[in-house]
Amino acid sequence: MRQLIAGNWKMNGSRAMAAELANALRTATAEGLLSGGKLACDLLVCPPATLVSVVAHALLGSAVAVGGQDCHAALSGAHTGDVSAAMLRDCGATYVIVGHSERRADHGESDAVVRAKVDAAVAAGLVPIVCVGETEAQRLGGQAEAVVAGQLAGSLPEGFAGVVAYEPVWAIGTGRTPTEADVAAMHAHIRAVLIGRLGVAGAGLRILYGGSVKPSNAAALMALPEVGGALVGGASLVAEDFLGIARACTG
Ligand code: PEP
Repeated sequence: MRQLIAGNWKMNGSRAMAAELANALRTATAEGLLSGGKLACDLLVCPPATLVSVVAHALLGSAVAVGGQDCHAALSGAHTGDVSAAMLRDCGATYVIVGHSERRADHGESDAVVRAKVDAAVAAGLVPIVCVGETEAQRLGGQAEAVVAGQLAGSLPEGFAGVVAYEPVWAIGTGRTPTEADVAAMHAHIRAVLIGRLGVAGAGLRILYGGSVKPSNAAALMALPEVGGALVGGASLVAEDFLGIARACTG
């Protein structure tokens, strides 16, 4: 399965920074700097909502897709400050991240809310990237797999056909990562849950790893079984780091 390297810019960036970063990615991918003239993975950047249009315009016709970081579950209406999936699509997005642990923590998003957002994303023609992952206390308590299975059960609608991102909360932005064995075990667990839930279709969905991925650890992480790419936060803000992670994919 071709891997997907997705950048989550979070609440960072200006129009000038977005144009510069998008142009660097456009140039690098056009020049085939990734792998002997050929991209060995799919690339996606998810800027803040204010920059989706800017980045989509800058990357139009390139090999890099654009996504949102969140969407509301409703199509439109009285939801001050929110952005709908259709609005993101209208701005040029083709993906949207939903259920990121920062949204779950900062905005109290439940699995049911995440599931409604997935439905909204699909209805608008976006590919949802659904984030799941345990806290450090849950891992230390031996509950990591049960927590993730519960999040998947609650967050994925019937017939889910998007992307899952496994992001241990304690690894996000901390410079810490699980052991390779733990990543492999969790991805195998998620795969089994997806197949149990979706049948054969569950075997073909990408499962991204996210949490302190950088160029120095990307090759080892991307080589693990069932790792279908990466969701990258901090390192996606620096073109060379993001491209360095993409170069770690061997196709
Ligand atoms: C994230 O926010 O999805 C993430 C993985 O962040 P970082 O790469 O900075 O840990």
